[in-house]
Amino acid sequence: MNEFVLPLPDDFHIHLRQDQALAFYAQDIAKQFGRVLVMPNTLPPLTSVQSILNYKKAIQEAAPRLETLLSFKIHPQLKLQDLEDFKKIGVLIGKYYPAGATTNSEDGISDLEHIFPVLSMMEDLDIVLSVHGEEPSAFCLDREAAFIPKVQLLTEKFPKLRIVFEHLSSAKAVQAVLDMPDTVAATITVHHLTMTLDDLIGENLMPHHFCKPIVKTPEDREAIRQAAFSGNKKFFFGSDSAPHLKEKKESFCGAAGIYSAPVILPILMQEFEKEDKLNRLANFVAGFGADFYGIARSTQSIRLIRKEWQVPLQIHGVVPLAAGQTLQWSLA
Ligand SMILES: [Zn+2]
Repeated sequence: MNEFVLPLPDDFHIHLRQDQALAFYAQDIAKQFGRVLVMPNTLPPLTSVQSILNYKKAIQEAAPRLETLLSFKIHPQLKLQDLEDFKKIGVLIGKYYPAGATTNSEDGISDLEHIFPVLSMMEDLDIVLSVHGEEPSAFCLDREAAFIPKVQLLTEKFPKLRIVFEHLSSAKAVQAVLDMPDTVAATITVHHLTMTLDDLIGENLMPHHFCKPIVKTPEDREAIRQAAFSGNKKFFFGSDSAPHLKEKKESFCGAAGIYSAPVILPILMQEFEKEDKLNRLANFVAGFGADFYGIARSTQSIRLIRKEWQVPLQIHGVVPLAAGQTLQWSLA
């Protein structure tokens, strides 16, 4: 097989950053995806209708064919009226960041109970809760597992609240999502599907493979692969593509985030083909996520061809995932 047609995919977790860089990142992802759910951890964060609409407009101007799905960042002072206003402009998710868990999360929530009133309103308004599921006080490889009881608690306290456990990185979290009710789903990235801690520190220190949550053990990666290839509707694609300039990564205090946007579909094709699961790729990148969020599935398509290409060492000053590697599938 030398050609493969997919429904035009959705990326349910992406960071497009701000200012001039935003245009580059939006245009890169628009080459492969029709819709993107943009994360709100900009500076300042997206916490008002006006800031969300301004952000959407900036993306539209940069990449007119890319449809932007909207989010806001949860903070304890949000009011019912704010949430109703978000709902009116079509916001899909409220994003919960534990304080200090990742990029620009210093103003995150230190105690989950502080936002129970907000979560209750989100449950009533049917706004999805998206969680960066890591407990910052735990050891770095255990942070995701340490967060699982909190998600469990949320499912008990707010049984109708739909929750997305973002960017799964551990076997324990995969199992937890399987065990939880159908109100809980999860996104999976291309880097957690393909890498382990060895790719970050096993031989040389590879700062461009550093992200939160950190890539983990071979067993963890295997569990994530099985989830992605399983055809279970609880697992769908979210890239968590999170570019930082080369000098921000190769630095005294390197930033967390992997720029996967330029290579997503070629790598997904490669991985699903390797496992003989290409028949499950369409639902993973262009089906289950839309179903979970209650939006129509894509009616457009994109064609990939088997043709080698070499991933550039840098794209707009950022070192992308798989830089310098040869990939087998290209966009037609
Ligand atoms: Zn993210």
